[in-house]
Amino acid sequence: MPNYSEKPTIIFDMDGTLLDLAYDDFIWNHQLPIRYAATHGCTLEQSTESLFQFYQQHNHTLNWYSTRFWSAKVGVDTLALQHEFKHKVALRAGCLELLNYLKSNGYPCWIASNADCEGLKFKLEQTQLADYFDVIISSETIGYAKESIEFWQQLQSLHPFQTDQAYFIDDTEKVLNSAKKFGIGNLITIAQPSSKGKIRTESPYPILQDLTDLMVMLEQAEDLKKYA
Ligand SMILES: [Mg+2]
Repeated sequence: MPNYSEKPTIIFDMDGTLLDLAYDDFIWNHQLPIRYAATHGCTLEQSTESLFQFYQQHNHTLNWYSTRFWSAKVGVDTLALQHEFKHKVALRAGCLELLNYLKSNGYPCWIASNADCEGLKFKLEQTQLADYFDVIISSETIGYAKESIEFWQQLQSLHPFQTDQAYFIDDTEKVLNSAKKFGIGNLITIAQPSSKGKIRTESPYPILQDLTDLMVMLEQAEDLKKYA
């Protein structure tokens, strides 16, 4: 029997959940089209068009999340591009407050990210977040994107956790859907993954307006357990 901790495991997505997705939008939708146009001698319009087509083909696959794949596909070193703008990597508001709260209250915290291993390492170095987490896993290591139920099956066999008690917070509905199919008990989404993007008002899942709202949710769940 795995040695389950008393507190539920809290599993976080990284980009758009703990970190501001504005950085990724900036890299992939603004800077990469400029670099691609310069590399291939085409207009920005043509470059944006070509990249958009590639994006459509590979969205929600492991390739989509692979900087190596994109570097080879588009002829631009996308990891170097990310490093070049590393000062723009930013935590979402309330991130540290929430993580400090979880740590001091004994919640096991994990990151489950579709970012590839290089991308994950780079973001964690930039943000100094690694020490908050007991498990940090990339879908590249698992061999399936989080959109597949196989991701969760593999994660469970590598790092056993109590599925029905766990919390999983992610800004992508397709990912939450596969976690639901697998049986994760508490699924939560994010109102505004990018500080420069739209605010989500509808979702099949509870929406965190602020990351720190999770503290209130957990306290309410603890109270329910106490008085059950
Ligand atoms: Mg995300």
